[in-house]
Amino acid sequence: MSSIPQDALLGRELVRLAATPDSKHAAIHEACQLLIAAGCVDPAFAESMIAREAVANTYLGHGVAIPHGMVEDKSLVRRDGIAVLQIPGGLTWNEGQVAHLVVAIAAKSDNHITILRRLTRLIQDSARLDALFITTDPSAIVAALTQEAALSTAAPTADFAEKFDWTVDYPAGLHARPAAAWVEAARAAGVPMKIRHGAEAADPRNLVALLQLGLRQGDGVTVSADGDEAAAALARFKAKITSLTAQEKADAKRAADKAAVPVRGWTPPGAPAQIAAIPASPGIAIGPLHILAASQFTVPDSPVPLAEGGAQLEDALTTTKLQMRAVVDDTTRRLGAADAAIFKAQAELLNDSDLITLTCQLMVEGHGPAWSWHEAVERMAAKLTALGNPVLAGRAADLRDIGRRVLAKLDPTITHGSMANLPDAPCILVAADLSPSDTAALDMSRIIGLAMAQGGPTSHTAILARTLGLPAIVAAGPELLAQKRGTMAIIDGQTGRLYLAPSAADIDSANTYAADIAGKRSAEAAQKSEPAITIDGVRIEIGANVNRPDQVPLALAEGAEGVGLMRTEFLFLEAGATPTEDEQLATYRGMIAALGDRPLIIRALDIGGDKQVAHLDLPHEDNPFLGVRGARLLLRRPDLLEPQLRAIYRAAAASDVKIMFPMVTSVDEILAVRETCERIRVELDARILPIGIMIEVPAAAILADSLAEHCDFFSIGTNDLTQYTLAIDRQNPELAAEADSLHPAVLRLIAQTVAGAAKHERWVGVCGGIAGDPFGAALLAGIGVDELSATPRDLPAVKARLRASRFSDLQALAARALAAPTAAAVRALDTDIA
Ligand code: PEP
Ligand code: MG
Repeated sequence: MSSIPQDALLGRELVRLAATPDSKHAAIHEACQLLIAAGCVDPAFAESMIAREAVANTYLGHGVAIPHGMVEDKSLVRRDGIAVLQIPGGLTWNEGQVAHLVVAIAAKSDNHITILRRLTRLIQDSARLDALFITTDPSAIVAALTQEAALSTAAPTADFAEKFDWTVDYPAGLHARPAAAWVEAARAAGVPMKIRHGAEAADPRNLVALLQLGLRQGDGVTVSADGDEAAAALARFKAKITSLTAQEKADAKRAADKAAVPVRGWTPPGAPAQIAAIPASPGIAIGPLHILAASQFTVPDSPVPLAEGGAQLEDALTTTKLQMRAVVDDTTRRLGAADAAIFKAQAELLNDSDLITLTCQLMVEGHGPAWSWHEAVERMAAKLTALGNPVLAGRAADLRDIGRRVLAKLDPTITHGSMANLPDAPCILVAADLSPSDTAALDMSRIIGLAMAQGGPTSHTAILARTLGLPAIVAAGPELLAQKRGTMAIIDGQTGRLYLAPSAADIDSANTYAADIAGKRSAEAAQKSEPAITIDGVRIEIGANVNRPDQVPLALAEGAEGVGLMRTEFLFLEAGATPTEDEQLATYRGMIAALGDRPLIIRALDIGGDKQVAHLDLPHEDNPFLGVRGARLLLRRPDLLEPQLRAIYRAAAASDVKIMFPMVTSVDEILAVRETCERIRVELDARILPIGIMIEVPAAAILADSLAEHCDFFSIGTNDLTQYTLAIDRQNPELAAEADSLHPAVLRLIAQTVAGAAKHERWVGVCGGIAGDPFGAALLAGIGVDELSATPRDLPAVKARLRASRFSDLQALAARALAAPTAAAVRALDTDIA
């Protein structure tokens, strides 16, 4: 960015207040006169601006228009400048678009981008904008358009008056997760702030700018703030950034421990160099690395009117944010809050004002939205990579990754490059991450393992690898991509390690271990469609947690006997709008068709707590986990409950469908939802369906005997039951390790639930995460639950564990667990039945 002072671009003489042009052309001429008088443009520039209007809509939105010249007329610009025409009475710019501020841009270079960035921020502050529409002080307009922009272009050494120095003590430096917390704190501060490292400075409200500082452990920074509240804001900010240190150190220690301690599984006898990543699909493979060049794809430049492009961009960003929320939600449930935080940080990149402004700027220059977005992402990512810091290279990869998600919304026709030049011999495929089109093109005869620099265990690549039975690791970091093509390697998908240039002894040992794993796996696989019947003849039903019809075949292939939990909130989260009764009907029918005559438990919408649906516009709650969520919300919102129940009753026909209500705490709630179900059933003349509830709060577990009288079954949601029993927010990464569903207090509530249900001969299932853990499943069976429902890929191991056990042993195990004092003591019992 150039360092030309902003007042050289826009001074009071370039602002005309209380203008009353009678047409768009008159306004453009009047604004252009100001630019001509200031020596910014040739008189012919007005015609160029008019010509631009014929090919592009320069109305930016919210009463602001930004006329500018044709790209090919840059020679008419003598120096960069901006002229502002204030039109208090408004002027119709295009049909339905009224301009109050006409910001005419003459730009040879990219200097005006800072002003545009300020404008895009201003546009979100309608109160301030409204004041500018009628102000009688031209310097108010100059200040609004230059001050904050000046912040990012001011001499970097110029701190604000109020400041403190701090030395970064995060072992991994300022990576995306803490940086996202800095951004949040800086935004909450309400005063302009600056972070300076040597000669580089950044506005801490801007994630990419912050990351570009490339702060590592030991780097000194000066944090400064402006305004009356500066001192208090700085104190709060300092408290926030220093409070992250403990977590960062703990994370670094965990990562170091993880890399140092051989995880259960294979350990090479030699000491080959290794890369520690996240396990994504178990198994061992030995072969040369094949590094897939970053997939190249072209994004066609298809310009559309600016306002339309802006709307498309906003839509794509909003939908991607919703999807990311679903990914965070899913990951929290599946892997815990600490892993989900990675996606949260990635989603934060979607709010980056520099990125969005650059995209808008490229659109203003006449490019299409998809092209502009892609170009902006690439430019920002290239800047991050160019700094030569591996942490930032990882962030560049994150940016590109999230960029692709948005791009797919902006132009669904874009396809990525294919898998060319694979060697003939079997190889371990190394890539940043694989797109769905890449994975579709995988040549399975030549690929024996996947190692990805990015991605998570729930990424497309990981899911595909598990489906195909390919050993895979993900999130190995940029170091992976720096490896030489053809390097011999061993990938261990169980431990998440990639061993480089192994010795002959390492390879022999790996081969033996692989043969053992293959034996165990084929034994599990051979039995996965067998029922989970213990040696002494007790059968546990096995369901899968599946939300969409297209996931059912995989679940059945893994041995699911039905669907024990269909979380319907995903329908609402992913759609970006409330699905209609008919849309829901189609999905439920799809599930039923995919399952044939197998059982399906459809859970009514569970919104609130960690599952927020933006488009429902629910009131803010200070403590949403203890607020109007689950059944409480449904009872207050018949507009959500009734269409859903109608769709379920209509879909169910002759199939084995049950309805389940989340977060029920009292008999009154059950009676109320039952009454609604019955009214709707009678209206539709539908069949009676069993109605059950989730046991997710201690009150429900304790009162299970009373609740059981009024419902047909229970399914225990151990994720929430653990959170409410242990008073640990399920999303709090700090406490993730302690939120153990095998805590004896949780187990005793489960036992109490089972006993309460037995009084009325109701069956009890468990659909929380612990049902998918083989040891957890064994304990639950011993406590007496009838059904377990888990993520499909967890099912074969759960079934194998149950089939290898004697029920009487499981009961004895459960008795010991229930008497144990701590979760660790419960887990220590695992060896007893290994
Ligand atoms: C649970 O709480 O265990 C559960 C299965 O429900 P969810 O994770 O959707 O809240
Ligand atoms: Mg729950």
